[in-house]
Amino acid sequence: MGILIKGVFTPDRKKATIYIEENIIQSINDEMYKDDFVIDGNRKLILPAFYNTHTHLSMSLFRGIVEDMWLKDWLEKVVWPMEKHINEEYVYWGAMLGGLELIRSGIAAIADMYFFMDKVSEALELLGLRGVLGTTIFEFPSPEAETPEDAFKIVENFAKKYKNRELIKPSIAPHSIYSCNIEILQQAKEIADRYGLLVQIHLSETKWEVYEVQKRYGKRPVELLESIGFLDKNVLAAHAVWLTKAEIRTLAKYDVKVSHNPVSNLKLASGGVMPYPEMKEYGVLVTLGTDGVASNNNFDMFEEMKVFAISQKNHRWDPTIAKAKEVFKVATENGAKALGFKAGRVEEGYLADLVLIDLNSPHLKPFYDPITLAVYSMRAGDVDGLIVNGKPLMLNREILVVNEDKLMEKAERKAFELYEKVMGVVK
Ligand SMILES: [Zn+2]
Repeated sequence: MGILIKGVFTPDRKKATIYIEENIIQSINDEMYKDDFVIDGNRKLILPAFYNTHTHLSMSLFRGIVEDMWLKDWLEKVVWPMEKHINEEYVYWGAMLGGLELIRSGIAAIADMYFFMDKVSEALELLGLRGVLGTTIFEFPSPEAETPEDAFKIVENFAKKYKNRELIKPSIAPHSIYSCNIEILQQAKEIADRYGLLVQIHLSETKWEVYEVQKRYGKRPVELLESIGFLDKNVLAAHAVWLTKAEIRTLAKYDVKVSHNPVSNLKLASGGVMPYPEMKEYGVLVTLGTDGVASNNNFDMFEEMKVFAISQKNHRWDPTIAKAKEVFKVATENGAKALGFKAGRVEEGYLADLVLIDLNSPHLKPFYDPITLAVYSMRAGDVDGLIVNGKPLMLNREILVVNEDKLMEKAERKAFELYEKVMGVVK
C-alpha cells in the first residue's frame, strides 16, 4: 500500500506532495501516484527522522532514580547495584518505555549498547523502529554473561539470528578500553570482521580514562586502538571528547565514525567539549547521540542538536561554527550513513524514515527557515507523526502500533519493582 502525504512543507520550505511505496520515498510532486492512504500535510513540515547513534535504551527504567552525583559514585552506588538485578524482562520493558519515547521524539533508529539484545530487538520490531544492537562486552561478569567468552557466544548467536532482518542490525559493543583488556578488544574486532558487524565502543569520554589508559599502556586511547589493529570504517566511537589533533587525524585516516553526546557530557561534567571543528576539518564523520536517559534525561534530539550547536559556539568563542544546517545533517544523514542506511534526506530513492512536525505553535512562528527552527526552536513535543521504513508509527500524535498507556503503566511498574530491590519502596 502506498502512502501519500499531501501539501506538506519540505525542509527547503516548499509545498510538496510525497509518495511513499514499500519503504522508499518514490516520488515528490509527481502526479502519477495512486493515493492509497492519504496523510493531510496542511500546516505540517516533513523532516528526515533522526538517527540516534549512541544510547542504552533499556536504561530508561533508570531515569531520574538518583541525580547530581559524581559518575563514579553514581555507577557504584546506583547503576551497578541495579544492574545486578537486570534480566530479560527488565530489559524488555526498559526498551519498550524508551521505544515509545523514541517515536514521540521523531527518532527512526538507534545504535544501542546493552544486554539481552534479543529482548531489545523484540521491543523495537514490535514498535517498528530500527536498531543497531550491540551486546556489551566487559572483562568482568556482566548481567548477561559470566565471562567474555560467554558474551562472545551471545554476540555470535545474535549475529546469526538477526542477519537478514529489515529493522535490526547486529553489532558488538566492547564497552571501553578501561573495561576490556587488549585480548578482549582484539577478539571483539575479529568477531565483528567475521560477521560484518559495526563495533560500538565508548572512547575518550573523560580525562580519567585517558590517564588510566596511559598509565596501563603508555599510549593514549586512539593510539592504543590503532596499535592493536582495532580501527577501521566499521568502528563507531561514542563521546570522543578528550583527543589530541594527532588522534583526530588517526580517526579520520581509518574512517572511524564518532557519536557526539553533548548533553550527557555536560551533565556528567566530562569537562571537555568534543573537538568538532577539528573533526570536521580532518574529515571525521560526526553523528549525534543522546546516550542513555539515565545521563540525559530524555531522547529529545532537538535539544541535543541545540546543545551541540551552542556548546561548540560557546567553547570556541565563535558563533559561526556548528551552523544549523550542518548540525541537522549530523543528527540525520550522517547518523544514517554511520549505521549503514540510505536515509536522512527527504529525497526520492531514500528510505521513508520521516517526521511530521505540527507547525501550529507560537514558538514555531514566524516560519522562515525550517532547519533553523528545527535546531534552535523545536522540541520533541512538536513531533506530530513518525514514519519508519514506510510505515506510520504515529500520526496526529497518536501512537498507532501499540497501546501506549498500557505499556507505559507496565514499564513504570517494572521500574519501581527494580528500584525496590536495591533502594527500598517508592513512596
Ligand atoms: Zn554510553
